[in-house]
Amino acid sequence: MSEETVTVRPFSSAAFDQYITEHKLMASRCTKCENRYVPPRAICPNCHSEELEWVETSGKGKLAAFTVIYSGPTFMMEQGFDRKNPYVSGIVELEEGARVSARITGVDPTKPTEIKIDSPVNVDFVEFGEGDGKKTYLAFKV
Ligand SMILES: [Zn+2]
Repeated sequence: MSEETVTVRPFSSAAFDQYITEHKLMASRCTKCENRYVPPRAICPNCHSEELEWVETSGKGKLAAFTVIYSGPTFMMEQGFDRKNPYVSGIVELEEGARVSARITGVDPTKPTEIKIDSPVNVDFVEFGEGDGKKTYLAFKV
């Protein structure tokens, strides 16, 4: 980074999460080989360049894999998901090539046979809680 570079956010998961609260799905793009990473990487695993930049993704992709979750992490349980109310977690392959793990919305978790691999998906931002406790979670909608 040169001294002329305007202040950019670090390629950290905290910065990535901050973008999510702004309803932006951001990737870090290697300026040398053009590979994009979600979540962001500070050093390109492909060509080892340290010259990466934030770019907003299209948020479009396709469902590559999914699982119905009956007992998830605490932050999902707090949103009311449990054995009787499962949710779908999946891997989405973005148009830009990056693979992202996130919740999948717009599907019926009780009918997994109706969920089709390769379905087109769009980024979705799920908000939960109120006031200072409000959080925004990355999801993809089928
Ligand atoms: Zn690279």
